[in-house]
Amino acid sequence: MGNGLRIGRLFGIELRIDPSWLFIFVLISWSLTSLFATWHPSWAFGTSLLVALVAALLFFGSVLVHELAHSVVALAYGIPVRDITLHLFGGVSNIEREPPTPRAELLIAIVGPIASIGLGVAMVVASSILINLRAYDVGSAESLVSQLGPIETLLVWLGPVNIIVGVFNMIPGFPLDGGRVLRAVVWKITGSLDRATRIAGAAGQTVGWFFVAIGAAMALGLRVPIFGSGLTSGLWLALIGLFLRSVAVAHVRGAAMDRALANVDVDHLMRVQGAWVGPGMAVRDLVDDWFLRHDEPAYPVIENGVFVGIVSLDDLRKLRARDWETKTVGDVMTPRPALVVTTPGEPLSVAIRKLGTTGVGQLPALDEHGTLVGMLYERDVARWLQLRSQLVREREAAPRVRHA
Ligand SMILES: [Zn+2]
Repeated sequence: MGNGLRIGRLFGIELRIDPSWLFIFVLISWSLTSLFATWHPSWAFGTSLLVALVAALLFFGSVLVHELAHSVVALAYGIPVRDITLHLFGGVSNIEREPPTPRAELLIAIVGPIASIGLGVAMVVASSILINLRAYDVGSAESLVSQLGPIETLLVWLGPVNIIVGVFNMIPGFPLDGGRVLRAVVWKITGSLDRATRIAGAAGQTVGWFFVAIGAAMALGLRVPIFGSGLTSGLWLALIGLFLRSVAVAHVRGAAMDRALANVDVDHLMRVQGAWVGPGMAVRDLVDDWFLRHDEPAYPVIENGVFVGIVSLDDLRKLRARDWETKTVGDVMTPRPALVVTTPGEPLSVAIRKLGTTGVGQLPALDEHGTLVGMLYERDVARWLQLRSQLVREREAAPRVRHA
């Protein structure tokens, strides 16, 4: 989900709305308008619409309370929270780091559902007090509902919905809060965050596929206990399932990457004795003598001992064939001021983000005097990550084989 529109700031946390949220806001407002119209045959359309809009806003306010609960506990553990974003499938707190201990993980996870259920129970209690205060003529459930005023109508809908949101989030599959609780428990028992992440992630994928299966059954007209039936709600549930599955997969991968990169700097992977070329070299010679004979996808350009730019295969792709004979490296290179650079001491994770956002295949590493000291190539980083994850997997597999 993208960065979205900023709507405010609470406890130093940015609150944002993803564009996809507008779609779900309109959908919920619309279906609530027709729900409230059936509850209250005497209401004008405008009244139903207005109460539905307020209900939808309060619903997203409740989601915000849920996310704030996660974020505030994370902040209390000293973990920075980048933002809270509302999107198509609810909300997400972008918490910057993994929690330090299983206990922290458990508390950060569980306060969200507790907040939702607490809010829901409070609303249910408030609505029953209000209903008892006004001596309604309690004939049937329908006639009671039809007598409710706007505030009671809001509470009667929103209370149970919050309780459902809280219970749904406790399903033990990552990225749902219940999956995080599961991860905290496995982490505590095994002492391995790695293993806990993989197990909670696998559970999350299973939950995701489970929703896809149930959603498909509903869409095909089957009535599933608890979930009901219907094409729209079936497709919606399947979509949520696919979303949960993809987040679970991405998280397991991201977590593996973060651990691989912890405490590794650029100088660990940069090439320090690589070749360089001069700006006066003809493009034809650059291609024949360098790109066709060696595996570097780019070379630093050095003039009188000073680093002046980088010439890459991408620079050559922009040229016409006859430029190869007439142009020099200095004509086609990307000059130093236009380059994104790194330093030997920069964390590899930061450099990888730079590679990702700029789309270039390499970063020159400069020391504090601006002297070129190495080149960090994206393909070296990719190979290193791949090898490392292979080795980690083999090392972890070994004890299991011995115990078999
Ligand atoms: Zn949550």
